[in-house]
Amino acid sequence: MGLLNIASSASAWRGYEYYKSGRIKSCQATGDGRYEGQVIGSNGTSYQVKINLEHPRSSQCSCPHADGKRIVCKHMVALYFSVFSEEAEDYYREVIEAEEEAEREQEQLENAVIEHVGKMKKADLQQILLQTLFEGPEWQFERFVRENLREYDG
Ligand SMILES: [Zn+2]
Repeated sequence: MGLLNIASSASAWRGYEYYKSGRIKSCQATGDGRYEGQVIGSNGTSYQVKINLEHPRSSQCSCPHADGKRIVCKHMVALYFSVFSEEAEDYYREVIEAEEEAEREQEQLENAVIEHVGKMKKADLQQILLQTLFEGPEWQFERFVRENLREYDG
């Protein structure tokens, strides 16, 4: 597993942002798929980051999130992207494509719901509406009263 695969999706994304906003202060190869550098954290602290591509879980960072643990943090990802800028652009493209795919799926689902509701019988619709009003969140119930039963609106 590569370093990027081990990182959580949040760390990968934040790492990409750190890389793009130029938070890598220094970076040098230290041999055998190892790189070492300094990355500026969110509070301005500079963290010591060491990444090991052969054994990603042996990568190290002095930030509180990763220090002493075998996890891949956003600073490691940022350093990784600064070494492999093409990987950074591939990563970004994949994220955007996944978002677009999720949007398309959501749209399909919404269209399916619209089509289904359009074919439902009145009695079934009434039952579902009442269920939604009584079992759903209170604001929904109150909004329904406000918009439909003026005489009860305080
Ligand atoms: Zn870190």
